[in-house]
Amino acid sequence: AAKEGGRNSYAFYSDAFFEQIQRKATLEQELRQALTRNEFYLAYQPTIDLADGRVRGIETLLRWIGPSGDPRSPAEFIPIAEDCGEIIPIGRWVLEQACRQARKWDQEGIPFERIAVNVSAIQLRDSEFGAMVIDTCQKVGWAPERLELELTESALMRDSEVLRRTFALLETHGVSLSVDDFGTGFSNLHYLHRFPVRHLKIDRSFVFHLFEDPAIERISEAIVGLAHALRLRVVAEGVETDAARKRLREIGCDEAQGYLFSRPLGAREFEAWVRTRKAG
Ligand code: C2E
Ligand code: MG
Ligand code: MG
Ligand code: MG
Repeated sequence: AAKEGGRNSYAFYSDAFFEQIQRKATLEQELRQALTRNEFYLAYQPTIDLADGRVRGIETLLRWIGPSGDPRSPAEFIPIAEDCGEIIPIGRWVLEQACRQARKWDQEGIPFERIAVNVSAIQLRDSEFGAMVIDTCQKVGWAPERLELELTESALMRDSEVLRRTFALLETHGVSLSVDDFGTGFSNLHYLHRFPVRHLKIDRSFVFHLFEDPAIERISEAIVGLAHALRLRVVAEGVETDAARKRLREIGCDEAQGYLFSRPLGAREFEAWVRTRKAG
């Protein structure tokens, strides 16, 4: 609303700022009602074994169709859900839905090893989190050994009594952890041996630039070396081309995930993807 320069530029920034706050407030309000209004659903994306093409994991990704009917990006609404605390009930819902779907697919004979769920740092602060995860598995009838929780480096960096107890409980029941977006955080690597981490997911920003910059390729190779030295498996995110798949296999990456294999799909579409693949 403002013209250029001087006092008016102050008005300009303040308008933009106000709009941003307002959008956030609107989203927050809508988020609080989204669960009861059934506006969420889950999308599923496979991680593929680069050695034999098998589906190893299935990552669940939250989707939200807002009251206006347009899809919202989790990159925008997850941070807001974290800020206002809604991530706790939403995260619980995601976990239960994911385990139910996994159990159904397993009973239908769809072959995969593990179902993966993204977990926010805020959820981990809750001292009830570990028990909630185990209870959910029990209630739904899903083996905790086949559940993987995806956490970012920053969520694992903070060491606390609550975190240690949570991970000890999860480890007892065989729940595994994977480090999401690996390479983008601060990489204080202590958490790799302190917590029951089983997979590293190389961030897609590395994969995107694999062929542009030889340094990126060497870093990716080094991540694979580090992971294997610690007996962790490495998953590459954001694999969109066959050239990237080949190169990642050559540098020793174990699994890959990305549009080359499948976009994140709704449950019915995912089933169709599995059928087509089996036929082909
Ligand atoms: P993430 O866990 O790292 O998920 C991978 C993201 O990369 C997903 O974005 C996925 O759609 C996208 N992706 C997969 N393959 C490709 C590819 O080949 N190319 C490109 N360009 N992108 C690809 P999405 O679904 O928008 O999710 C964004 C982030 O939101 C996730 O990143 C995760 O951090 C967060 N998120 C999603 N669902 C949940 C949830 O249920 N709980 C929590 N706490 N966070 C979630
Ligand atoms: Mg993830
Ligand atoms: Mg990721
Ligand atoms: Mg990511």
